[in-house]
Amino acid sequence: MSVTDHQRSVVRRSTGATKLDPTDLPPAGHFIDGAFRDARAAETLEIINPASEEVITEVALGTAADVDAAVAAAVKAKVSWARVVPKQRSEILHAVADRIAQNRDVLVRLESANTGKPVSVARDDVDGTIDTFRFMAGALRATTSMAAGDYAESHLSVILREPLGVVGVVTPWNYPLLMAAWKIAPILAAGNTVVVKPSEQTPLSTLKFAELVADLLPPGVLNVVTGLGPVVGSGLAAHAAVDMIALTGSVGSGKAVARTAADTLKRVHLELGGKAPVVVFDDADLDLVATSLRTASFYNSGQECGAACRVLVHESVADQLVDRLVAQVRELVVGEPDASDDIEVGPLVSKAHYDRVLAHLDRAFDEGARAAVGGAALEGTGYFVQPTVLVDVPAGASCTTEEVFGPVVTVETFTDEDEAINRANDVPLGLSASVWTSDARRSHDVAARLDAGTVWVNSHLVLANEVPWGGFKGSGYGRDLSIYALDDYSRTKHVMHYHGR
Ligand code: NAD
Repeated sequence: MSVTDHQRSVVRRSTGATKLDPTDLPPAGHFIDGAFRDARAAETLEIINPASEEVITEVALGTAADVDAAVAAAVKAKVSWARVVPKQRSEILHAVADRIAQNRDVLVRLESANTGKPVSVARDDVDGTIDTFRFMAGALRATTSMAAGDYAESHLSVILREPLGVVGVVTPWNYPLLMAAWKIAPILAAGNTVVVKPSEQTPLSTLKFAELVADLLPPGVLNVVTGLGPVVGSGLAAHAAVDMIALTGSVGSGKAVARTAADTLKRVHLELGGKAPVVVFDDADLDLVATSLRTASFYNSGQECGAACRVLVHESVADQLVDRLVAQVRELVVGEPDASDDIEVGPLVSKAHYDRVLAHLDRAFDEGARAAVGGAALEGTGYFVQPTVLVDVPAGASCTTEEVFGPVVTVETFTDEDEAINRANDVPLGLSASVWTSDARRSHDVAARLDAGTVWVNSHLVLANEVPWGGFKGSGYGRDLSIYALDDYSRTKHVMHYHGR
């Protein structure tokens, strides 16, 4: 890192114009059986604003007894919720979407304050949440199964798609409301009841969501218990009355949940980490690559499982691409979430994560990498790190194989197509990837050979509710979004009627 780079990066500070109002905060306690339970007696956890480092509020640290109460409420509600006909369930989910839309501003304020994400990103999250509920409200009415028919003589077969029952959900801190919506919407749409454990760092928007929709859902259909993963999340994974556990989070938490869930043989749905390779061939539009990565690599401060964090570029165009990318990164506007509408990069979510990302950078420099731009923390209050592009990265360096989950992109070079594909696939994760080329054969063939659940061609990090999201290999299994998610949260039953004479 050069002194000039360090001086160029400054944190734009908030004017205080859109600060959180105390009335924005959700009620205290867990949301169980349609109401917030008084948690005054419980131990609490401080919730921090990562831009100001101030305590926003405190939430209850859930216990095994809270998990039991929430699961009992979900069990009590599951039979009647499963019987609600698709049209009515769909109308309820549309009403949820409407309620979120009516309360967009408060959810944006809460999400920005709790995560530090720019207001523009928080708006995308709330809009995405609304669209997820609308998509699932429509999709649940259009699900079909195999035609009823005689497949064995004198036996009529009917295939039913049924809800699983109670689904436990554990969510991460990077998109707290959106990741909760990606689970809650298809789970409820498929006729299940749900107990959600939000990240202990960012529970506010999920609690607010429960408050906002409380009168729209029958008691017990949606429950939220706040607290720690190894207590509340693990409690849900272990609970005999929970039929499935769905987690979005790190690989370590995914493994822990899968191990715990094995004892009751419940279904497991895991959306875990990513280390998306960005494979750039010599015939790619380099300006398009650089402008696209400005968003795809640094959106949400790079705390994004699909972030374009690992560039593999053909050696003949590497210098040209790095120049263009560095020019884009220098222009990124870093600041407190509500400092202005054009903030592109906020702080990291917590002191612990900030320390972790800086440790990754230290290790990268020890391993021989060099920062073409950025490479250090930003001074002042808040957990801000400079948007960074690392070059001269030795093959196999930890920053190219481990998820950094911050505003850090590495650039490596390759000489031919096979090498590019082998190196792109040579990581334990397989969530997403992109290929940049103007060659029609390559755009199909390389995409087909990349080991990732989503592959973009000449694009990166564009998602839609109609299409599935989920990983291969260490990135987990199961799909969010689309009718594939509805399928994941249902089970198949065959009913056979003998009608012989
Ligand atoms: P994390 O694994 O630390 O925490 C995620 C959730 O798991 C939290 O609610 C936490 O309390 C809980 N948890 C932790 N230990 C647990 C245990 N033993 N049993 C049950 N629950 C437990 O992850 P994070 O730091 O909050 O989020 C970042 C990670 O999430 C990154 O790895 C990122 O790639 C991943 N992520 C993936 C996707 C995706 O769609 N694949 C989306 C967003 C985030």
